[in-house]
Amino acid sequence: MGEKIEQLSTQLGQLSDLGGALSVMGWDQEVMMPDGGAQPRARQLSTLARIRHEMATSEDLGDLIEAAAQETEGAGYDSDEASLLRAAKYDYEQDMKLPVDFVAKFTQVTSEAQHIWAKARANNDFKSFEPTLEKIFEMARQQADFLGYTDHPYDALIGQYERGMTTAEVARIFNAHKPDLIELIAAIGEVEDRVSDDILHREYDIDKQRAFGIEVIEKLGFDFTRGRQDISTHPFCTSFSRNDVRITTRFYKDYLNPSLFGMMHEAGHGMYEQGVAEALDGTPLGSGTSLGVHESQSRMWENVVGRSKGFWSWAYPKLQANFPGVLDDTNVDAFYKAINTVKRQFIRVEADELTYNLHIMLRFELECDLLTGAVKVSELPQVWNDRFEQFFGIRPPTDTLGVLQDVHWSAGLIGYFPTYALGNLLSMQYYNTAVAANPSLPSEIASGKFDTLLSWLQTNIHQHGRKYTSPELTKRVTGTQIDPAPYVAYLQEKFTDVYGLG
Ligand code: ZN
Repeated sequence: MGEKIEQLSTQLGQLSDLGGALSVMGWDQEVMMPDGGAQPRARQLSTLARIRHEMATSEDLGDLIEAAAQETEGAGYDSDEASLLRAAKYDYEQDMKLPVDFVAKFTQVTSEAQHIWAKARANNDFKSFEPTLEKIFEMARQQADFLGYTDHPYDALIGQYERGMTTAEVARIFNAHKPDLIELIAAIGEVEDRVSDDILHREYDIDKQRAFGIEVIEKLGFDFTRGRQDISTHPFCTSFSRNDVRITTRFYKDYLNPSLFGMMHEAGHGMYEQGVAEALDGTPLGSGTSLGVHESQSRMWENVVGRSKGFWSWAYPKLQANFPGVLDDTNVDAFYKAINTVKRQFIRVEADELTYNLHIMLRFELECDLLTGAVKVSELPQVWNDRFEQFFGIRPPTDTLGVLQDVHWSAGLIGYFPTYALGNLLSMQYYNTAVAANPSLPSEIASGKFDTLLSWLQTNIHQHGRKYTSPELTKRVTGTQIDPAPYVAYLQEKFTDVYGLG
C-alpha cells in the first residue's frame, strides 16, 4: 500500500469512528435514553455531526484524495484500494456540497423533532407537529438544492439512500407493477374470508416470544457474539462495526407478528452488516451499499424465507412446543395462511407482502408533491386520507393511523421510503439467483438449514460492503437491472395458492 493511500485510510478511519460514535448516540436515544435526555442529546449529536462534517470536508482530505488517486492509478476496479478511493471521492464531493451550519442545524432540528412527533402520534395531534414538519420539508428543499439535481429535487434526496436512482426511474418501476398489485388485491378482496389471522392474536407470553425469536434468528445466522438485540418503539438495525451490530424489536402480548417477523427482518439487516469483509471494517466501504440492497436482505429473511411453507414445516412444531396449549387446535397449514393474510389496513409496518409496496407508493407520491409545493404540509392529513382511500378503499379514522404513523419525516429522511419497495423487488431477484446456483435451497430451508443461503449472500453481496453501487451489484449478481417482474410473479403464485384463486 502506498504512503498516501495509507494516510488516507487513517483519516477515513477516524471519520468512520466519528460516524460510529454518532450511531451509538442514536442507538442510545432510541433504546435507553430517558425523556429528559432529548434536548441535551440533540445538542450532543449536533456538535459531533459538525465536527465530523468539518473533518469530512477539510481541504487536507481533498488533497489527500487527489494524491492517493495518483498512487492507486492502475489498481483494478475490484481492488480494495481503488474501491476505497471511489467511495472516498464520492463521499467527499457529496459532503462538500452541504454547508457545515446546515448539517449541524438539520441534525438538531430532526433530533428534537423525534420527541415532538412521538408525542403528536400518541395524542393524535397533527397540529402540534405541523410547524416542525414544515421546517423539515423546507430544509429538505434546501438540502436538495445544495446537493443538486437535473430533473426533480427529489432526485437529490433519494440519491442519498440509493445512489444513481432517480424520481423518474422510481415512478417507472412503481407504475410497472402497481396495476398488478391492485388487481390481485381486488381478486383476494372477493374471497377474503377464506383466510384469517385470528390465531396470531391469541395470548403469547412475551418471554417465550423473545426466547423463540432469538432461537430462530440465531439459527438463521445472526451472530450474537458480534451483535445484540434490545427493545425500542420503532425497530431498527444499526452498526458501529461488522463486529458490533445492534438490532431492536418490540413485543405485543396479543400479537405474534411484530416480534417474530420483526426479529427476522432486523436480523436480515444485521447479517448483512456482520458479513462485510473484515478488511473493509472501519473504512467508508465497511457497511451495506444502499438502503434498497439492505432492505432486500431483511425482506428476504423475513418474507421469502420466513413466510414460506418450507420454513414453517420446520419451525411450526417448535413454535407449538414453545407456546404449550396455545396452538393445540390448529395446524401448520392454517398457520401458514394466517401469516400470509392479505389485509387492507392502515399501518405500513404491519402490511402484508402484497399490499406493502402500495403503502410506499402513497408516500413516494406525497413526498414528491410536498417537495415541489403541490401539497402543503397543512393539507397533509386531508390529502393523506383522500389518497389512502383511493389506493385501499378505506379511510384512516385518525392521523395516528394515517399521516403520523412513520418516524421517517420527523427524522428528516425524505427520499428514504422508496428503498423499501425497491428492496422487496431485489429480494426476489437475488433469491432466484441463489436458487439457480443452489437448487436444493428450498428443501434445505424446509429442514432448518440456512447456511447455504447465508454463505451465498455473504459471497455475492455482503462481503463487498460499499465496493459496488446498488445497480453495479445487482448487475454483477443477477446479470440484469432492478425489475419488478420476478416479485410480481412470486406474489401471484403465492397468494393464488394461499387464497385458492381460480
Ligand atoms: Zn428494514
